[in-house]
Amino acid sequence: MTLETHDGHTADPEPAVERALAAGAPKRLTILGATGSIGESTLDLVRRHPAKFDVEAVTAANSVDKLAAIAREVGARCAVVSNPDRYQELAAALAGTGIEVAAGAPAVVEAASRPVDCVMAAIVGSAGLEPSLAALRSGATLALANKETLVCAGELVMAERARFGAKILPVDSEHNAIYQVLDRERPETVSRLVLTASGGPLRTWSRDALNHVTPEQAVAHPNWSMGAKISVDSATMMNKGLELIEAHHLFGLPESRIDILVHPQSIIHSMVTYCDGSVLAELGFPDMRTPIAYALAWPTRMTAPVQPLDLGAVGQLTFEPPDAERFPALRLAREALQTGGTAPTILNAANEIAVAAFLDGRIDYPDISATVAASLEGATTKPVTTLSDITAVDEEARAVARAEVARRQG
Ligand code: NAD
Ligand code: MG
Repeated sequence: MTLETHDGHTADPEPAVERALAAGAPKRLTILGATGSIGESTLDLVRRHPAKFDVEAVTAANSVDKLAAIAREVGARCAVVSNPDRYQELAAALAGTGIEVAAGAPAVVEAASRPVDCVMAAIVGSAGLEPSLAALRSGATLALANKETLVCAGELVMAERARFGAKILPVDSEHNAIYQVLDRERPETVSRLVLTASGGPLRTWSRDALNHVTPEQAVAHPNWSMGAKISVDSATMMNKGLELIEAHHLFGLPESRIDILVHPQSIIHSMVTYCDGSVLAELGFPDMRTPIAYALAWPTRMTAPVQPLDLGAVGQLTFEPPDAERFPALRLAREALQTGGTAPTILNAANEIAVAAFLDGRIDYPDISATVAASLEGATTKPVTTLSDITAVDEEARAVARAEVARRQG
């Protein structure tokens, strides 16, 4: 994702900095969801640092031409499209290149398991879960943008991470910020996490006006240009709810010690409060290439073409509490995390169905949270154990949410 209001003023990497950071063999990298917003930002960095990366596999859902162009450009060994009907098209587009071609969801999982140093998980939705698990099991460092992976199967994913001794580097900007300032050696010194939220494009809208939001208005984010699903999530603030659950799993704090603070400028990306009253924050111009560069370069850093932060020009940073009345998704996510077990799995699945229906013009904006609430209401939740349990709960919740969408349409 790049900043919409980008004025073209980017930092020129200093040659001396580039030289100092140049050492080392290239990292083998797989990019899942290479054609999306995070995928594009990842590729932008790979292009700027060609000697640092050796691209193994790239994947997409449907955009065959774009995927084929990416695979050729970066010299990937393998390109995979998850829609099995697109196999012939992809094979034709890459004929004679020597690049391996495959199609179907299992082929995406197989691509994620290929031995590499780092897998960028940038698929949208719970479709990213199995590929993320496969990457962890292969021992790769998982650069995790796909927050739905942790929302729908957080316990399972963190248990597999521990079992395989793999590393997860959060790419979501808030979690990346916390990762950078959290003292993981002394967790007992951490009091609270504060996730900042821009408030989304509808932050100042009245309750009445929120009844008449169009998909175009919902995806018009003031600070970030992102894929359609996360843009709608930002407009309902479900994105922050998903991030609350994501933070709980990544950092091990209970829901009661994770705060959400609206900060419309998106300069402070999140904060950690320590027992002595110190609050550590990570700040920067809002551009996803910063957290992506952090994850790609870890444990060192690399230059990113991001506008330098000029706080004098920004002038004011403002804050306000989130409004759970106008944005009930926040409360739904907190409650799902309190309930635990498969409640977050249901929340996530119902939200994916509701957001897709809203983007298709089948339901209204308030129906998104209402559909999620209705899907959680009658559901029985159970402890999360295996992937097949999660998949079954996810499918069942989708069916319930589809029925709820149909009822609201009718
Ligand atoms: P996007 O819609 O722009 O791209 C999604 C990518 O996933 C595309 O390459 C698409 O082809 C692929 N894909 C979609 N459905 C798939 C499926 N069923 N199987 C396999 N591949 C599939 O989304 P995005 O904005 O890049 O977001 C990707 C993930 O990163 C999301 O989980 C989002 O919440 C998270 N994230 C995004 C941003 C951002 O700035 N865009 C910021 C933080 C976190
Ligand atoms: Mg985020």
